[in-house]
Amino acid sequence: MTEVVVVGAGPVGLFLACELRLAGVDVTVLEQRAERGDITKGVAMHARTLELLAMRGLAETFLDNGVRLPGWHFGFLEQRVDFTGLDSPYPFVLSFPQDRTEAILEDRALALGARIVRGVQAVGLRQDHDSVRVQSADAEYRAAYVIGADGAASTVRKLSGIDFPGTDATFYSYLGDVVADSPPAPGFNVVNENGAMMVAPMPGGFHRVAGYDPLRQHAGRGALSLDELRETASRISGADFGLHSPKWMTQFDSATRVASSYRAGRVLLAGDAAHMHFPAGGVGLNLGLQDAMNLGWKLAAVVRGRAPATFLDTYETERKPWAEDVARHTMAQTALITATTAEGLALRQLLSDLMGSLPEMSQKIARRLSAIDVHYPPADPDAHPLTGTRVPVAAMPDGRPTTLEISPGTTAIVRPDGYVWWAGKPEDAAAFVNSTGEYR
Ligand SMILES: Cc1cc2nc3c(=O)[nH]c(=O)nc-3n(C[C@H](O)[C@H](O)[C@H](O)COP(=O)(O)OP(=O)(O)OC[C@H]3O[C@@H](n4cnc5c(N)ncnc54)[C@H](O)[C@@H]3O)c2cc1C
Repeated sequence: MTEVVVVGAGPVGLFLACELRLAGVDVTVLEQRAERGDITKGVAMHARTLELLAMRGLAETFLDNGVRLPGWHFGFLEQRVDFTGLDSPYPFVLSFPQDRTEAILEDRALALGARIVRGVQAVGLRQDHDSVRVQSADAEYRAAYVIGADGAASTVRKLSGIDFPGTDATFYSYLGDVVADSPPAPGFNVVNENGAMMVAPMPGGFHRVAGYDPLRQHAGRGALSLDELRETASRISGADFGLHSPKWMTQFDSATRVASSYRAGRVLLAGDAAHMHFPAGGVGLNLGLQDAMNLGWKLAAVVRGRAPATFLDTYETERKPWAEDVARHTMAQTALITATTAEGLALRQLLSDLMGSLPEMSQKIARRLSAIDVHYPPADPDAHPLTGTRVPVAAMPDGRPTTLEISPGTTAIVRPDGYVWWAGKPEDAAAFVNSTGEYR
């Protein structure tokens, strides 16, 4: 029996495996794909994710190989969101392709001792009061806990009977990660009566070209050809930007859902298995990595018998509201991206003007997209006001909590996922550590 089986070696499953291994938990990751993925899918890495990676000593690998973008779009508004004022060591969006993120995380998970079994598709799940069994076509894996990190169509979620309420697709979006011989100026995005388009630089000389084309709605989800992308670009933007050499081309939809529960007994969900939404703002992968960081240390404490199983319920309490927030602001953005009527364009102009003239609006949206705003209100009303707030970066390479002097006379104990666990007078810290030692 393994202590934890993670179903899905996407970025979230792999990062969770790393976090569990840091705490010494025995982890097996089951992945249906025989080979590593080569899809560039999630490219935007936001400030809070970079802070969390920095806590584990991983940020440099990403920073050295990504493209730093000072601004990013909100609903393709002409005036961009300015990230340069974020109170973070990483006041930008880092463009970094998902296949490389997965490769980095897989190498790390293996180096930390995780077992990754490829070519195994989970098709069955059965749990009793002391274990869960995951079945594939020809084997069974027994574990104390199972994590469904198997993406938006999660088999684990369905087999656990967890609902996935939300809205169905209302439109389809095109996307090509391609080379552009004549790219537009950085920060290009446009919405007009013909549709919507954004172009964002990626590492390796690629650009992401994506948006909404009213004339491509019949095509639904799936394949897109280079000729079709060039025709769409010309019609919406007046130029095809010399697009060629596609790395990834697709059509995807705007369905938005959040799991009704993140836990069913010994089964938990993380990443896209728990939430899906239109990728406006480039936040989905970030949200999932933050789930993994929140869940990892808690699950390790429970598996090792240092915390009661009910401790796992704080994972949903803390993380689900942020997934719901992302669902709301990505839906708001889809309304703006598809606002191609005269009235819609007028609304866009008004909001864009506000974004340009009210720095506070841009800053608030930057904080929201970057997840700098994420905090976890304490259950105890008498807790110190700093409890549950974000610590920008604290060196925790081994995933152990750390103690920081945050102001003269105030000490904070920082959780392994970078939020204040306790704050107060330095002389009281030892008592808190003793009281919670069982969780660590
Ligand atoms: C077009 C597009 C653009 C995006 N852009 C961004 C962006 O810029 N920034 C951002 O943050 N996010 C972005 N996202 C979202 C991001 O790609 C996802 O949030 C991310 O992939 C979620 O990771 P995950 O590990 O939860 O799931 P996935 O990446 O879906 O991984 C799930 C894994 O589970 C495996 N699996 C599935 N079922 C089984 C099974 N039954 N048994 C075994 N294995 C199984 C799959 O093969 C897969 O490897 C984008 C998404 C799309 C579609």
